[in-house]
Amino acid sequence: MFSIADNLENVRNRIEKAATAAQRDHASVRLLAVSKTRQASELIEAVQHGVHEFGENYLQEALDKITEMNDPSITWHFIGPIQSNKTRPIAEHFQWVHTVDRLKVAQRLSSQRPTGLPPLNICIQINIDNEDSKSGIALSELQPLARQINELPNLHIRGLMAIPRADADNTELQHSYTQLQNALAELKKLCPSADTLSIGMSDDLEVAIHCGATIVRIGTAIFGPRSYGQP
Ligand SMILES: *Cc1c(COP(=O)(O)O)cnc(C)c1O
Repeated sequence: MFSIADNLENVRNRIEKAATAAQRDHASVRLLAVSKTRQASELIEAVQHGVHEFGENYLQEALDKITEMNDPSITWHFIGPIQSNKTRPIAEHFQWVHTVDRLKVAQRLSSQRPTGLPPLNICIQINIDNEDSKSGIALSELQPLARQINELPNLHIRGLMAIPRADADNTELQHSYTQLQNALAELKKLCPSADTLSIGMSDDLEVAIHCGATIVRIGTAIFGPRSYGQP
């Protein structure tokens, strides 16, 4: 029988095992529950089993759940593509955005971040396998973009995010993730606050943790298969 509690236990065990194998403290890997297409009741069940961070891809769906749940203990991460005319509600309602890939969006998020809230935590999305269908910048564009974003007052650069090719094998994943790990080390010289590598999903969290993931974004392995909205 499918249960969110059992699935969570299984995912946490996988994270712990992978961290141990990589000689890392498992507390250095945060579990982000990817809750796109899920009902608020399912998220609440996850909250009851210790999840406090959710990743959402679709803005209106996310805003509905944020309002319905009205739970200040939750950290909301926006992990979907960003339309530049939809930045205001993201700046107002989320604590993290993983998918920043252009200056215009960063500028808008910074200027629309309400005063009184801490800076918005930002990951720059890298299109690590140079796929036409994916958002994100090339690694070669990272330094100039990061330099400009670093000047914006209400954003806090936290690191890098990537979604590798869906059909990549373990060797290819490891190659891509290692490039990201090196890029993060470079980025840290420019932005000491950059401490985050947002990589790893249900099928590849072990490789990602081996390569330095600090946030794994897990949907299916927690909530079961999605019936729509598969990216
Ligand atoms: C849906 C999604 C995930 C989760 O994928 P699963 O394979 O269901 O774990 C992670 N990251 C992003 C950006 C997603 O859109």
